[in-house]
Amino acid sequence: MPSLGSIRRSFAPWNDAAAKPYIAFENVTKKFGDFTAVDKLSLAIYEREFFALLGASGCGKSTLLRMLAGFEEPSAGRILLDGQDLAGIPPYRRPVNMMFQSYALFPHMTVEQNIAFGLKQDRMPKAEIAERVASMLKLVRLGEFARRKPHQLSGGQRQRVALARSLAKRPKVLLLDEPLGALDKKLREETQFELMDLQHELGLTFIVVTHDQEEAMTMADRIAIMDKGEVMQVATPADIYEAPATRFVADFVGTVNLFEGKVADMSGDAGRILGADGFGLRVDNLAGAKNGARAWFAVRPEKIAISAVKPADEGLNAIEGEVWDIAYLGDMTIYHVRLEDGRIVRTSSVNSRRASDEQLTWHDRAWISFRPDAGIVLTR
Ligand code: ATP
Repeated sequence: MPSLGSIRRSFAPWNDAAAKPYIAFENVTKKFGDFTAVDKLSLAIYEREFFALLGASGCGKSTLLRMLAGFEEPSAGRILLDGQDLAGIPPYRRPVNMMFQSYALFPHMTVEQNIAFGLKQDRMPKAEIAERVASMLKLVRLGEFARRKPHQLSGGQRQRVALARSLAKRPKVLLLDEPLGALDKKLREETQFELMDLQHELGLTFIVVTHDQEEAMTMADRIAIMDKGEVMQVATPADIYEAPATRFVADFVGTVNLFEGKVADMSGDAGRILGADGFGLRVDNLAGAKNGARAWFAVRPEKIAISAVKPADEGLNAIEGEVWDIAYLGDMTIYHVRLEDGRIVRTSSVNSRRASDEQLTWHDRAWISFRPDAGIVLTR
């Protein structure tokens, strides 16, 4: 059987011009009084996609989900699901289910009863309910806990009950609002993989809201980065990280060093970015930039090497500074290097060998260096 990874790698309907989006937000605006929570937002999500909405608190992520679920109506624009305009369709008629931050389990009901609740409301025949509940319990591996009440379960188990309950009605789309927020780090990581397996097994479309970027990077096929009710970029985790479109996105996901300057000496895609201090960075990927324009070279910490002596390779960008801060994290070490002009550059190095004697320490002189293609040129 192929691994989930290899299946996911080949899944990219967004690159297929003939593929139709399953969910489409078209110019959707949501206002609460004078306040605009979602601003002329357009977004296409594909069937069987694991899609993540990532953004700071208050950026409009939950509002977007609530409109898709039918708990809020857009003030303008439309939302389509499988080609059908959802306007005026009540929540229970939409093939969409939402799992809430708090799980909202009924405390007086057993696990079984919690899972069966929606099915009973739909007046599903008793035998069918029993069968469905049993298959859900098996799916989330809670068979032996069927008769317990929520307060007799751990946080992770409660999370799985909520998941089983939201899947019991077999929605085509599951919306998850901070689904793992209540779990500790280890359990969270385990559950992330469980969610991915489950989503794949059931062939559903998942849209997850989170403000945890690692979680979004781990689980999602694509991520939308949101800010103030707008989508800043939609891309795969790797592209969001390696090819952010703007400084906001570069800075929001992971850590980034931004070297600001003016584009100069362009020849093809190569040229320089000249900083105010006269320092010129050699860069290889200036495509789309213009001589004289303001630009930022965005370089991730792991793409910057640190050494006690200047590297011999003249083709590298190399700048001298002073070791200002060190954070030893076990698997890697983060160095903050202070340059002449007071700027701090962050580097991170993998500790592939055990601690040696030649390590750099606080206030040592050090060189940071990186290749002309180590970063990306941003103009916004
Ligand atoms: P969080 O990560 O904190 O849950 P979020 O990105 O999900 O944030 P939303 O819940 O979508 O944010 O809220 C977006 C903005 O809209 C916030 O500023 C919020 O205060 C505002 N808002 C949401 N619901 C209402 C409402 N019913 N009335 C007025 N303002 C609202």
